[in-house]
Amino acid sequence: MFVFLEDCVKELHDAIMADGYGIGSDIVKVDMFLNHRLDTKLLNAMGREFYNYFKSKNVDTILTIEASGIALAIATATAFGEIPVVFAKKHPHEELDKIKEKGEDYTASVYSFTHKNNNVITVKKRYLEKGSNVLVIDDFLANGEAAEGMINILKQAECKVAGIGIGVEKGFQPGGKHLRNFGYDVKSLAIIDAIDNGNLVLANDN
Ligand code: 5GP
Repeated sequence: MFVFLEDCVKELHDAIMADGYGIGSDIVKVDMFLNHRLDTKLLNAMGREFYNYFKSKNVDTILTIEASGIALAIATATAFGEIPVVFAKKHPHEELDKIKEKGEDYTASVYSFTHKNNNVITVKKRYLEKGSNVLVIDDFLANGEAAEGMINILKQAECKVAGIGIGVEKGFQPGGKHLRNFGYDVKSLAIIDAIDNGNLVLANDN
């Protein structure tokens, strides 16, 4: 079957095939362009792709999570006409009580797939205006913990979730399915179906 790919999506797929690799059965490394070295041309094209997909949703704010979501979030915010980016900060779980005591932050508990630990993510209450129309952006989607934590914070802030934009979704983990089943509009620019001996297998319908 012939599948038409947008230029940016093709560029991203080419970069994944050229420079991405897998570790074990479930870790995807794309440090060459997304997680360590940043390919700004590709990131800007990915941002424009999110704009094209979500432009009818009246997005006024982007929410992401530190650290590796920030670059893609800025590229996306620029494509939307330089709207603000808010990034959730990560703290060790032991700090939860101290953070809550101060009462300045929205908080959510997030299990980190890559670090195998629990974090508290926080956003200062004053940075999320009630009624804002927020696009959630992240570099990766695995089990959906990070995205669900951000959605939890948006609910506390009484903001709307305009959609969820993901650079690379690991289709063999359940996050994408869960979020779509909840009714969220999830746009992933690349979906990886499997890791085969260190090689990444891309889904051919995204
Ligand atoms: P989730 O919360 O959906 O399980 O995982 C998403 C978060 O974990 C993303 O913010 C991303 O930074 C990180 N992550 C999950 N899986 C991978 C992976 O295979 N490779 C990289 N580089 N990051 C990942």
